[in-house]
Amino acid sequence: MKIPELLAAALPQDCVTTEAWALQSYGCDRTTIWPAQAVAVVRPRHIDEVQRCVQLANEHGFALVPSGGRTGLSGGAVASNGEVVLSLERMNRIVDFDPVDASVRVEAGVVTAQLQDYARDKGLYYPVDFAAAGSSQIGGNIATNAGGIKVIRYGMTRDRVRGLSVVTGKGERLELNRGLLKNNTGYDFRHLFVGSEGTLGVICEANLALAPAPADPLVLVLGVPRFADVLEVLASFRQRFSLSAFECFSDNGLRKVCAAHQLAPPLSTPAAYYALIEVDECDGAAEQAVAAFEYCVDQGWVSDGVISQSLGQAAELWKLREYLSETLAAWTPYKNDISVAVSRLPAFLVEADALMAARYPDCEVVWYGHIGDGNLHLNILKPERWSKDDFLSRCSAVTDELGDLLVRHGGSISAEHGVGLLKRDYLHYTRSPAEIELMRGMKALFDPRGVLNPGKLIG
Ligand SMILES: Cc1cc2nc3c(=O)[nH]c(=O)nc-3n(C[C@H](O)[C@H](O)[C@H](O)COP(=O)(O)OP(=O)(O)OC[C@H]3O[C@@H](n4cnc5c(N)ncnc54)[C@H](O)[C@@H]3O)c2cc1C
Repeated sequence: MKIPELLAAALPQDCVTTEAWALQSYGCDRTTIWPAQAVAVVRPRHIDEVQRCVQLANEHGFALVPSGGRTGLSGGAVASNGEVVLSLERMNRIVDFDPVDASVRVEAGVVTAQLQDYARDKGLYYPVDFAAAGSSQIGGNIATNAGGIKVIRYGMTRDRVRGLSVVTGKGERLELNRGLLKNNTGYDFRHLFVGSEGTLGVICEANLALAPAPADPLVLVLGVPRFADVLEVLASFRQRFSLSAFECFSDNGLRKVCAAHQLAPPLSTPAAYYALIEVDECDGAAEQAVAAFEYCVDQGWVSDGVISQSLGQAAELWKLREYLSETLAAWTPYKNDISVAVSRLPAFLVEADALMAARYPDCEVVWYGHIGDGNLHLNILKPERWSKDDFLSRCSAVTDELGDLLVRHGGSISAEHGVGLLKRDYLHYTRSPAEIELMRGMKALFDPRGVLNPGKLIG
């Protein structure tokens, strides 16, 4: 029997599809580098069906690609090698809410924004947030340990995860950490599955910690002529506030967003860089923010600025940052999602800037990122006249040089997007041979036949 027939015989009939549109659509993520070549798409409704699917893969030797909202930027959810896509999208129930524990139990296919709305309705807050939150799913967020715009205050997805139900690559079901806050009983496998990119097991349910609802936001956008001064601005706002976001973007990125979305530039005087700062709107916050702004102007770090006067204006200012990734997609960018310690950013940036100028003389480079976390998104835009393949091979060569630079500055080749296919061959710039060998050992333990996402993360 062929694989789709095997699956159709073992699972409810409407779980399996081989329609061309589905193979194409479920077979890729936002990278658009690798062609979709899935043989079937399975969309189970229950963990038992996930388990059956993994058991079949073990018995018959075919590969599965766990799939969420397919908003990934590293090729982790791509099925380009005759795999079966295992989409969790129908497992999208909010199973339980506990107001005393301030926690929620959800199935993996719950969309991130759906959980944000649910938490808000309960008077609480789910703080993992980024521009793809309307499509990405909790299972995908956990599998990539997603970060986003609120990490500076609330941490990464990992910091929300109190428990997981998974089906391992072997087909075993594990209940990890039981939603407990305290549980010192040895190795915490829950954390091994966070960020494992679908290579160890399929995340089916999660117990997540919610945060208290924050105050309304006060948002500033400040023009900063020199990048090193962005860090001075960060330090001076940090002295006065517990920041809920500190983002940065370059002027060429801003201009593209404004043009694409018919938005007015935020400042009358353009600057090379902009810092977007969010703090809680509470007593005296606006006065404190103005004082911090004036201090930065006096120091010569900031040339101009705007401060939100309403929730509507705060949301408008956020669009300038949030629309960047989707806007740049029109230029088929090669995305580097890198990090160094915040304190090392200025020195790193000087060298990275020189490298980009020397190695990409024909390409426009757009910087932006979660600068308060030391995380930069360095986007190389493809010149129209270059073919995609030519562009990619040139970028790959430079990624090695960037990797060397990151080693010297103690940084990472993937801050939050994960490794997938895109950064797999550069993993050694951040993880030692001993670590990679241990990762392979983990993979062999949880997925001895290599049925889950083969070729991703560690190859
Ligand atoms: C406009 C835009 C902005 C973005 N901004 C950010 C950002 O600020 N911060 C950030 O961290 N990311 C960002 N991303 C990247 C992406 O949204 C995140 O990586 C997100 O967590 C992926 O979730 P997903 O459901 O789409 O996962 P997918 O893309 O479907 O999958 C991602 C990986 O997780 C695995 N996976 C998915 N579901 C499961 C499961 N149930 N069990 C096991 N493995 C699974 C897949 O196999 C794959 O390896 C952005 C993407 C876009 C398009």
